Amino acid sequence: MGTVGSQAMWRLAARGAEVVGFDRFAPGHDRSGAGGDTRIFRFAASEGAEYVPLLRHADALWRQLERESGRQLRDLTGCLLVGQAEDPTLPQSGADLEELSAGKVAARFPGYRLAPDERAVFDRGGGCIHAPLAVVAAALRAEQLGARLHRYTTVTEVRACDDGVDIVTDGGVQRFDRAVVAAGAWVGQLFPELGLPVDVRRNLSFWHPWQPPVRDAAALPALIRASSPGFYGVPSPDGLTMKLGLTAELHRSVDDPNRLDRAVAPEELDDFRRVIRAHLPGLHEEPTRLGAYMEAYSADRHPLVGSMSGVPNVVFLAAFSGHGFKISPAIGDAAADLALTDGTALPVAFLAADRSMAC
Ligand SMILES: Cc1cc2nc3c(=O)[nH]c(=O)nc-3n(C[C@H](O)[C@H](O)[C@H](O)COP(=O)(O)OP(=O)(O)OC[C@H]3O[C@@H](n4cnc5c(N)ncnc54)[C@H](O)[C@@H]3O)c2cc1C
Repeated sequence: MGTVGSQAMWRLAARGAEVVGFDRFAPGHDRSGAGGDTRIFRFAASEGAEYVPLLRHADALWRQLERESGRQLRDLTGCLLVGQAEDPTLPQSGADLEELSAGKVAARFPGYRLAPDERAVFDRGGGCIHAPLAVVAAALRAEQLGARLHRYTTVTEVRACDDGVDIVTDGGVQRFDRAVVAAGAWVGQLFPELGLPVDVRRNLSFWHPWQPPVRDAAALPALIRASSPGFYGVPSPDGLTMKLGLTAELHRSVDDPNRLDRAVAPEELDDFRRVIRAHLPGLHEEPTRLGAYMEAYSADRHPLVGSMSGVPNVVFLAAFSGHGFKISPAIGDAAADLALTDGTALPVAFLAADRSMAC
């Protein structure tokens, strides 16, 4: 019942399925992929054009979930993508994307600045998702539609067989027709025998105050720097700080997701200080809050969605590789199709869980 699991429950319950969810903690908890308050939403799909239809579908479902839950789950203040002018990973301007000059960036977004050799693209439909609230909203909506949620219930084993799936918890064994497994960083522990191509990484988020304070800082767009050193920033909703994170290459591996090292060593601040000095001079170098979170990455950096041979009746949703939150409603919708009908019209074939992976 984490990020994608809660969405899958909502989409399954919306189709009238009998849904039972399990989580070691409660939806929206801080150790899950929703930890650290916010996630970026954007249409500019730097991961590949195949994601665009999923992002559009996710956008529609985010709006639907906001209506159904009566909660505002996103602040669509836009997303500014910056990078070296020649960087091919930086998108070209288009329907939702506007090229901005350095002067326009400075005038519209105080606190952000472009170096002379950089360019910026503004993704108008982007912004930030209130991550824990979004998970809670999907889980509670599923519950409202009839799903049963087992909070604080650890699944110790998933036994797949030809006529169903046994879910084993401390409370006993329950048999289901199908299971959707969305266990985030813990998926490898639940299925050690599969040797899934999943690497769990420790992602740091630091909240840096604006110095001097920036008026209406909460209305600034999210920021992503595509070129090296890659980083992203999300203005905190209270307008006091900006949350910074670095790209995955800089994250160290986590051997055991139950023992994530949450302590931050002083030298881990150095990369962030360098980013601030070079790109975000409006931020104070010393953070007021430090957080360590986890994410599962696949070998080719694309999620695993669907069934795997030898594990009948199980739909895997795994290894979202740093970009799962924004598309999570679309993935949940596809999972509902896959669990109920074995197929889906949503374009997730390129994410097939049993694909061979060219790294
Ligand atoms: C710091 C950081 C920043 C990110 N920024 C962005 C961003 O800006 N935009 C974006 O789109 N994505 C972003 N991501 C990625 C995104 O957050 C993840 O891809 C997504 O949250 C992963 O969702 P999940 O459902 O796979 O995992 P989770 O949300 O962690 O859900 C897994 C759930 O399974 C439960 N669980 C696991 N094992 C068991 C068990 N044995 N028994 C019971 N329960 C169990 C866990 O408690 C957890 O609740 C970011 C990730 C991190 C870490």
